[in-house]
Amino acid sequence: MTLIDSFGRVHDNLRISVTDRCNLRCTYCMPEDVTFLDRGELLTFEEITKFVRVAAPLGVNKIRLTGGEPLMRKDLHKLVRLLVPIPGITDIGLTTNGLLLKGQAAALRDAGLTRLNVSLDTLDTGRFRELSRRDGLDDVLASLEEAKALGFAIKLNAVAIRGFIEHDAVPLANYCRENGFELRFIEYMPIGAEAWEREKCFLAHELLELLEREVSPLAPSPDYDPRAPAMEFDYADRRGSVGIIASVSRPFCKSCNRIRLTADGKVRNCLFAHDEVDVKALLRSEGTEGAIADTIRRNVAAKWEGHEINSAKFVKPTRTMHAIGG
Ligand code: SAM
Ligand code: SF4
Repeated sequence: MTLIDSFGRVHDNLRISVTDRCNLRCTYCMPEDVTFLDRGELLTFEEITKFVRVAAPLGVNKIRLTGGEPLMRKDLHKLVRLLVPIPGITDIGLTTNGLLLKGQAAALRDAGLTRLNVSLDTLDTGRFRELSRRDGLDDVLASLEEAKALGFAIKLNAVAIRGFIEHDAVPLANYCRENGFELRFIEYMPIGAEAWEREKCFLAHELLELLEREVSPLAPSPDYDPRAPAMEFDYADRRGSVGIIASVSRPFCKSCNRIRLTADGKVRNCLFAHDEVDVKALLRSEGTEGAIADTIRRNVAAKWEGHEINSAKFVKPTRTMHAIGG
């Protein structure tokens, strides 16, 4: 069975937010002053597992755990252990800011997690504080070292904001090349608390020019899938690769395969969706698997064509990124 929308897009990728809480306050993601959900409003690990058990037979095979900061959720490794054996789930990833990874990485690896995306925009202490309104760079770097030693496949995510990334792209690229991490830039999207302007986006072609000039020539990766969200490039000297998620300059809506479950049990068919549908009550009742499956199917069927970031029709969602799940 497949989850297919009215534009023929097949959905097999589920992003699960496990909390809206965060130990950073990245300016592009969330406001400084924020009221978090009460803990009782969050789905339990068992409820998340029930959702995945329903979604997998509908064709979902890939899961990403995110937030807020997912490692602020106590014992996240226990959720990983519940999800890994679900039939049909072939790929589980985690996106984290890395602050709390050190100390949890071994338990996560032991639970069956093999892939990590660690968000890190800069290797400069001052800019780290400016962007995230908190300290913590040393903890992130120590976490990366530990995760690397444990054998995780690691990608580094950096948001490309003009005025910042020009200073950081090259040091990040060199750091990733030295450590065997794949670097991924994400064009700055209008989903945070601050006023967004297109001019603040450092775009994919500018990133490529900068890296080719300062690091090494790049060529499209041979296994690059043009329908995938990230454009993939290999360095000509074969020392690593770079991905760019160009949501602004090259939106991937036409081939979007993602659905989302928020920490408070809402299903969303797009990061930028205005409507979401509640499944928490169903997840908290017995014998509701069929109704949950119907809800997911209907939500996917009703998906819009795309987010319209580049048109005057664009309307920002009421929730900011941390509360939806990145
Ligand atoms: N706290 C975790 C982290 O930072 O990795 C997981 C949640 S975070 C919302 C997921 C991803 O969204 C991060 O890589 C972050 O950089 C990215 N992100 C947040 N706001 C963004 C924005 N306005 N534009 C582009 N990416 C953004
Ligand atoms: Fe927290 Fe991640 Fe948002 Fe930064 S990007 S504020 S680390 S949720």
